[in-house]
Order: sequence, then structure tokens, then C-alpha cells
Amino acid sequence: MTDVDCLFCRIVSGEIPSDAVAETATVYAFRDIVPKAPTHVLVVPKAHTPNVATAATDMPEVLGEMALVAQQVADQECGGQFRWIFNTGERAGQTVFHVHGHVIGGDHELGWSPA
Ligand code: 5GP
Ligand code: ZN
Repeated sequence: MTDVDCLFCRIVSGEIPSDAVAETATVYAFRDIVPKAPTHVLVVPKAHTPNVATAATDMPEVLGEMALVAQQVADQECGGQFRWIFNTGERAGQTVFHVHGHVIGGDHELGWSPA
């Protein structure tokens, strides 16, 4: 399923350009347009679902694949160590309602002040 009004569906389809980092049959990873760390990559399912809980219900295998792609990106870019963030709901900072895990990493110890 795709949603014509969904930004990340349009990125997955190639209608909106993005900087690809990794891809499988079901998952796409691309650089965040406003990076908050040396590595800031978004990992999304190619099929539309709004958040991590709906992904777990609707496509658990794809959610597992997303985790493997996140690790692959971190192996490529930041020594295999990374933070994986799913903002869920507007109050938690979710602005795009197509589930995406932020892969955050770098060559330094990450800070921790999420609230
Ligand atoms: P959220 O705030 O929903 O957790 O994350 C959405 C992310 O998408 C933000 O970090 C934002 O910078 C990123 N973003 C928004 N629009 C675009 C875009 O057109 N291209 C890319 N690559 N990232 C985007
Ligand atoms: Zn979508």
C-alpha cells in the first residue's frame, strides 16, 4: 500500500529524490535531510504503515528486516554502534506518519537528553 500524500511513500517510489544508503526488497534507508549527528539515516518499510506498533502488527517480518538494515548502516558508518529512535505521535516529535527508525551514530559518545 502507498499513500499519495505521504512524503516517505513518495521518497520510496523515487518521485522525491533522496540520498540512498541501503535497500532490500522491503526496506529503504536514506539520509535525513537535516542530520542531527554525523550518521543520521532513516530506515523505512517500502509499504506504508503509520508507526512502529502498526508495523509490528501489520508487517512484523519487515520490522525485523528494518533492524537488520539499521545494523548494516551502522556497521558501514559508525563502527556498528548506534541509537535507533522511533518518534511515535506528534507530542513525541513525529512529523511524518510513515514509520521510520532514525539511525543515529558517530565517532563520539552520544549525549542523552531526549526529553
Ligand atoms: P520525525 O520527526 O517524524 O521523527 O522524523 C522525520 C524526519 O524526516 C526529520 O528528521 C526530517 O529532517 C526528515 N525529513 C523531512 N523531510 C525530508 C525529506 O524531504 N527528505 C529527507 N531525506 N528527510 C526528510
Ligand atoms: Zn507512506
